[in-house]
Amino acid sequence: MDIRIKIFIALSAVVLLCVSLGIAIGVQYMLIKDGGRDKDVPFTIVEMDVSAYCPCELCCGKFADGVTASGRPAEGFLVAAPPEYPFGTWMSIEGYAGGLPVPVLDRGGVIKGNKLDLLFDSHEAALEWGRKTIKVKVWK
Ligand SMILES: [Zn+2]
Repeated sequence: MDIRIKIFIALSAVVLLCVSLGIAIGVQYMLIKDGGRDKDVPFTIVEMDVSAYCPCELCCGKFADGVTASGRPAEGFLVAAPPEYPFGTWMSIEGYAGGLPVPVLDRGGVIKGNKLDLLFDSHEAALEWGRKTIKVKVWK
């Protein structure tokens, strides 16, 4: 084979390699950049001080009427969160409802800042949860 053809093939291969490598790096860079953008992430992770309650009078005092601040019944899996989380915001809390997303449907006098209160169906279950500082997934 002609030496010039060999050189040409070798150079072409090098150029092709550089171009594909460049594209690969470029794509990866774009992906990393996009991943860092807020709008592309469907949730944020917030470290919160998570306590527990039940619909009883000990937990809710004069609000122990079986109805949450949103008007929904105080039953099933739901969360009391500060007003910056509108009713209907979904949160995933490890160890509660099997880690599945649960809605914010209640408020509380002491539920401010990065505090959450989880509804349990019995006072014993609420006491068992106690209070935990954990990372909570807040879905957008
Ligand atoms: Zn209670």
